[in-house]
Amino acid sequence: MLCMECRRIRELLPLLAGGDLEGSLFKDAREHVATCERCREELLEFGHQSLLLKAFPASDGSASIWDSVRERIDQRRSGSPPPAGS
Ligand SMILES: [Zn+2]
Repeated sequence: MLCMECRRIRELLPLLAGGDLEGSLFKDAREHVATCERCREELLEFGHQSLLLKAFPASDGSASIWDSVRERIDQRRSGSPPPAGS
């Protein structure tokens, strides 16, 4: 079950991943993804590493978020399954 905010943000994820989101929508989507692991997973389905870097520049304090995202990308590349039960 997704909360209303998740539903709203998920419609924006393809745009966020594509770098097509601007202004307050971009801010909303980025802030939500930074706090919502499920939507972050969803973003990974759309996003490429370089685009995620653009969405989460290390300079704005989201470095720890980016680290966890990159970790997951590395896991996928190495073929390990994601941690169960999350
Ligand atoms: Zn969410």
